[in-house]
Amino acid sequence: MKMVIDHHMYIIGGTSEGEIFRDPDKIGTFLTDKTCETCCTYNMLKLTKQLFMHDPKAEYMDYYERGLYNHILASQHDQSNHGFTTYFVPLKPGAKKRYSNDYHSFSCCHGTGMENHTKYGECIYFHKNDTLWINLFIPSELTWKRKNITIRQETGFPEEQGSTFIIGGNQTFSIKIRRPFWAQDGFSIRINDVVQSKSTEPGTYVTIHRNWRDGDKISVDLPFQYRVEYTPDVTDVGGIMYGPVLLGGENINSLVILNLDHSNLMNLFIEDENDPLHFTFQGISFQPFYRIHDTPYSVYFNIPQ
Ligand SMILES: [Zn+2]
Repeated sequence: MKMVIDHHMYIIGGTSEGEIFRDPDKIGTFLTDKTCETCCTYNMLKLTKQLFMHDPKAEYMDYYERGLYNHILASQHDQSNHGFTTYFVPLKPGAKKRYSNDYHSFSCCHGTGMENHTKYGECIYFHKNDTLWINLFIPSELTWKRKNITIRQETGFPEEQGSTFIIGGNQTFSIKIRRPFWAQDGFSIRINDVVQSKSTEPGTYVTIHRNWRDGDKISVDLPFQYRVEYTPDVTDVGGIMYGPVLLGGENINSLVILNLDHSNLMNLFIEDENDPLHFTFQGISFQPFYRIHDTPYSVYFNIPQ
């Protein structure tokens, strides 16, 4: 897993070019229309889940979240007739996603593609003895039978930069809430509106041991920041992340130069008041990559350092 993530991963969490690994750290060199076979991320998420069950480290779920939102969620056309999915997810600047159809496209990825989108409930919660891990910010309700506890998670994440958990039942146990690696300044946890003062690092879990009472409310603030993630091999080529979300530029046909003021990223992108996560910069419309279906796009740009 370390080999793949550290040396073969594209910004969407996907891997492979033309169904094979290229040389280590050759990412910008291989921005083609055959990148990121969707099965690879399907399998990496499975592997990540298994590793987490042996060794519950937050970094596993940091990867899981990246792959889930930026590849798996981006691999289905949500307005298509029958939930059509991708084989490759091309990251060549100016590429367009190609989706399956009813009768004439049956790659391995269309098989795993049918499974992928039934699994958004996986890996949100894990438990062992008296500890509950909360990994993902997805609206859901957990029934923990052995403890006679329910937890309802209410959130519009990632359009909302936070999440709320409401406890049902009375019980003493520990909750470990994942603080994602991207959750830097402004991260906080409140219990019944009282701020918890524990200091934590991004990319770890915040542990709260408590005698939980019916109706207790946990609020997590997860402010997003922009960051540029460069490819390891081509200087100045990178993509723009906003918290966990990869932004793609729409209606782009080639590698575009973005002139960013790196010290002022927070004020560069103008968000549409009526359409969260839809931005404009340099006259280009930026959307979460998972929302782009029918237009040519680019997620990699020439961004002078
Ligand atoms: Zn496949």
